[in-house]
Amino acid sequence: MPLLELQRVHVHYGPIQALKGISLTVESGEIVTLLGANGAGKTSTLRAISGLVRPSAGRILLQDVDLTHRKPHEIVALGVGHVPEGRRIFPRLSVEENLRLGAFTVRDRAEIARRQEYVFSLFPRLAERRHQAGGTLSGGEQQMLAIGRALMMQPRILLLDEPSMGLAPVLVESIFEVIQRLNRDGTTILLVEQNARMALEVAHRGYVLETGRIVLSGPAAELAADPRVQAAYLGAA
Ligand code: ATP
Repeated sequence: MPLLELQRVHVHYGPIQALKGISLTVESGEIVTLLGANGAGKTSTLRAISGLVRPSAGRILLQDVDLTHRKPHEIVALGVGHVPEGRRIFPRLSVEENLRLGAFTVRDRAEIARRQEYVFSLFPRLAERRHQAGGTLSGGEQQMLAIGRALMMQPRILLLDEPSMGLAPVLVESIFEVIQRLNRDGTTILLVEQNARMALEVAHRGYVLETGRIVLSGPAAELAADPRVQAAYLGAA
């Protein structure tokens, strides 16, 4: 049974049909990437999974648990971590306070501390800045904090929306290294990326969205070699 399964999911925003029957699976242990041009429906797919938009049709399953009509906080508690586009951290709270808010269902202080140390091992820069206000971090550090906060719940699957957006190339490299390390440590990841080249390098499989529909899918290496993907997303002629 897949860890996550979308069955013919539709999403409407008023008259706009953003998703027109998306079906996809993510197996436990995989990195799966969703590629597509602006407006293809990548963010809407992640928002539907985390309950931030309600599908007008279709089903979303986390193994045998139906997520389709659950509230966002229930979906988080069931094991879906979502790092939205644009790093929404709490700017006035410190790095540590931001991380602790991520573990909102955990009561055991020692457990919270242990998870925080794991986040600091992934992102040593955050450890050095643990008392600094989130809003004063650089863009890359804020992205690290947003990922770290989602990890504090030890999600069964992590949804990452454009983690490399707006980052300098060296930071893009390090974010992708962290994605691979997290996956090696056992986290399943659904990754939305504009940087298709990097996404296909780290992912096991991928799906290509066009205007609310999946038009291609397969192993990442096959997608990277596909002339249609190369022409549309990898900048090849
Ligand atoms: P991008 O890469 O630009 O973030 P995307 O693939 O993530 O794009 P979505 O953000 O899912 O695409 O948007 C899919 C479609 O739904 C677009 O046509 C968008 O304009 C529309 N849409 C998204 N959110 C809303 C909303 N809140 N109200 C109305 N239309 C919306």
